[in-house]
Amino acid sequence: MDEPRGRRKPPRHLADLSLAERVEHAQELGLPGFRAKQLSTHYFARLVDDPGEMTDLPAAQRDELVADLLPSLMTPLRTLEADRGTTRKTLWKLFDGALVESVLMRYPDRATMCVSSQAGCGMACPFCATGQGGLQRNMSTAEIVEQVVAGARSLARGEVPGGPGRVSNVVFMGMGEPLANYRAVIGAVRRLTDPSPEGLGMSARGVTVSTVGLVPRIRQLAGEGIPVTLALSLHAPDDELRNELVPINTRFSVTETVAAAWDYARTTRRRVSIEYAMMRGINDQAWRADLLADVLQAYGDWGWVHVNLIPLNPTPGSKWTASDPADEREFVRRLEAKGIPTTVRDTRGREIDGACGQLAATEE
Ligand code: SAH
Repeated sequence: MDEPRGRRKPPRHLADLSLAERVEHAQELGLPGFRAKQLSTHYFARLVDDPGEMTDLPAAQRDELVADLLPSLMTPLRTLEADRGTTRKTLWKLFDGALVESVLMRYPDRATMCVSSQAGCGMACPFCATGQGGLQRNMSTAEIVEQVVAGARSLARGEVPGGPGRVSNVVFMGMGEPLANYRAVIGAVRRLTDPSPEGLGMSARGVTVSTVGLVPRIRQLAGEGIPVTLALSLHAPDDELRNELVPINTRFSVTETVAAAWDYARTTRRRVSIEYAMMRGINDQAWRADLLADVLQAYGDWGWVHVNLIPLNPTPGSKWTASDPADEREFVRRLEAKGIPTTVRDTRGREIDGACGQLAATEE
């Protein structure tokens, strides 16, 4: 879907397939089906990446299965650390040379992986580093999942300060527009939430899909029966400004987009998160806080929504900067005065270009 034509596809990988499909593959190779389950346990439960450790698989079968179902998908080019090693950003090179980023953020009570879903992005939001380079290609399900598995491995092996741990949350807030790569992203969400060893066995509540607001896709996502958290990158409560900041708004207006988000909350009973990057003098006026609250309050205050303010991470060459702290405080105050729960995002990893896309952009 939405795949540029005439290009080679990423290698097929176990994480692209359901357990039943993996079993079929093993059988096509003339191997017993349970070998596929053993291989799945190595990948998803034991987080093994060295075939030499898969000692329950006879060597010849192991080589065949690994070649067929565990091809190498990506190599790390660079890892940057911040926050005393608890924030780790990795720049990955995919099989065709495309570059993507993922970020692992460890907190005292959880560990979040921020993953990319496309190499580049076609949404062209002018304040976003990734948006400046356009879309290179969609990532495959396995390429998305592998970013999480890589983070899970480093946590399990105690490579991140705080002792051995697990990935508790995944946010689709790296490069790309996840709902523009719908099929692969849904596949990845299934693999993350499928019980082990079909998948990683995470809770759907721990998964957040962030979108510019592709309205038909939001409605489709609501019907999947996987109650992931939806984050909507609104950034402006009025069409005039949002048309500029999030150009897809010329297709789906603020009203249509917020209505789809509300429907999502109603159907899934999951609270929607409204993302709002605070840009000095652009979208941070007190009247826009009032308007934002009114736009959201139009659907009642049964707890369907909260606002997450993100201090803008300025991108090279951009004319925009982060809001004045006093303006940010007033913005929060006005939203809360109208009953909208509001948080200000903690900006992890600023010094390593926390706004995803900046590392890949400088590399190119
Ligand atoms: N395409 C998805 C995921 C993108 S990244 C989406 O738009 O939601 C996740 C969030 O980071 C989005 O809310 C995006 O608008 C925001 N973002 C992008 N560039 C930023 C920057 N320079 N500073 C702060 N937030 C930024």
